[in-house]
Amino acid sequence: MALDTNDPTNGNPKTHVVIVGGGFAGLGCARGLAGEDSVRVTLIDQHNYHQFQPLLYQVATSQLSASDIAFSLRQAFHDDDNVDVKLAEVTEVDPSTRSVRTTDGETYRGDVLVLAPGAQANFFHTPGAAEHAFPLYSLADAERLRTRILAVFEDADRDRALIDQGALNFVIVGAGATGTELAGAMGDMINETMPAEYHDLAVQRATIHVVDLGHVVLNGFSDRAHEYASKALQERGVKLDLGTGVKEVAADHVLLSDGTTIKTRCVAWAGGLMAASPAAASGLPQGRGGRIDVGKDLTVDGVPGVYVVGDIANIPGPDGDPFPQLGSVALQSGQCVADSILAEIAGEPPKPFHYKDKGIMAMIGRGSAVAEVGKHRHELHGSIAFAAWLGVHAALMSGVRNRIEAFIDWGWDYFSTTRGPQVLDQRSGAAHIDWGEPEDAEVTASLAPPP
Ligand SMILES: Cc1cc2nc3c(=O)[nH]c(=O)nc-3n(C[C@H](O)[C@H](O)[C@H](O)COP(=O)(O)OP(=O)(O)OC[C@H]3O[C@@H](n4cnc5c(N)ncnc54)[C@H](O)[C@@H]3O)c2cc1C
Repeated sequence: MALDTNDPTNGNPKTHVVIVGGGFAGLGCARGLAGEDSVRVTLIDQHNYHQFQPLLYQVATSQLSASDIAFSLRQAFHDDDNVDVKLAEVTEVDPSTRSVRTTDGETYRGDVLVLAPGAQANFFHTPGAAEHAFPLYSLADAERLRTRILAVFEDADRDRALIDQGALNFVIVGAGATGTELAGAMGDMINETMPAEYHDLAVQRATIHVVDLGHVVLNGFSDRAHEYASKALQERGVKLDLGTGVKEVAADHVLLSDGTTIKTRCVAWAGGLMAASPAAASGLPQGRGGRIDVGKDLTVDGVPGVYVVGDIANIPGPDGDPFPQLGSVALQSGQCVADSILAEIAGEPPKPFHYKDKGIMAMIGRGSAVAEVGKHRHELHGSIAFAAWLGVHAALMSGVRNRIEAFIDWGWDYFSTTRGPQVLDQRSGAAHIDWGEPEDAEVTASLAPPP
């Protein structure tokens, strides 16, 4: 039998740190430990790449290709002998032995276990949503959504009658940052890109609805930002169905709580998140959104040697409310855990988490961005806000890859002019739509051409 190199009792004097998840949090931690003589790291992810989530909607709207936002985990650590990347899905977590088990039957046991598997879409038990809606949390999600958007255009181009069946109606559930950014990018795609590519199709009949139970766009931002974002979306012809819930998602329509039915074959779900499945598998105490409640030291009370970071954790902020699920919170919490592990090895106390708040920002299509930066949340709009967005995201990206010049170049091009290729992947299930028999349903609005 081969030596179990995952077992810390096999005589290796280095502290073995097992990290689950190569997102911002897991990478932040692994980067902080890379090259350290006192530790060896096993970084486990179900993909062999890091996916840069802030740019997922650009992939969904064909502005970027998947390879632009996926970074090889192995390449990230190719100079660091003490970091070993394992491609595997974790299904079982035993905090008492700091071990995890993967679908291929391997067990990885650490002296320290760091849980950073992020979050997943929360459909809030909405009937039909899990089956028919397209979430936007992973690269695979973004590619599926892009395929569906392009497939409905192709189908409508072949058979104009399908427009009456809702082929060109798009519904985005959720008016938070993800839904707003996606709606803006889709508005640009429909207003600017598609008319030039589908010469023969009545693209102006396309509609985009953003549906949210809340009454504002970009919840969490200031009132002025709500207004700015609403205006930026409406200028792109996006219809805002605010204060309205989604009662049902079906294969060919969405039913809203006010009784409206929107015929559609493309429902994007940006309606909320819950903790990734290892949270429940761990048996650790789960709070809001199924996330694991941790203290300021990013551990669970009474569970030594286990850290929980990033989107899967409820990390208490200064006012007691958890920090928002942001890339910068995830990255910094992972870095903080690396510091704590090294401190403990050196016999020093672990470091409490202090978040350096860079602000919140959103890009609402080409040329429109909103940012609230600094302690006093200074508001920026337009190209200055975009510069702040680019700076913060470049800093985030430098946490996962060394070269960021290409990202900056892309950013300015995107903000001004670039159009991406509309390449349909016909192998994907999302490309094949069963149109069935036409049925009656109300279509609420048409996309007005921008003024
Ligand atoms: C569309 C979108 C746009 C966003 N935009 C912004 C933004 O502009 N700015 C910002 O700051 N934040 C943004 N965020 C939030 C930010 O991306 C997240 O807060 C951040 O990615 C969380 O990092 P994480 O490391 O906790 O999780 P993730 O980045 O989700 O990484 C988790 C990793 O764990 C892996 N994993 C999950 N389950 C398992 C398992 N069972 N076994 C093995 N591996 C597993 C996953 O493959 C993944 O690589 C956005 C999020 C989304 C979805």
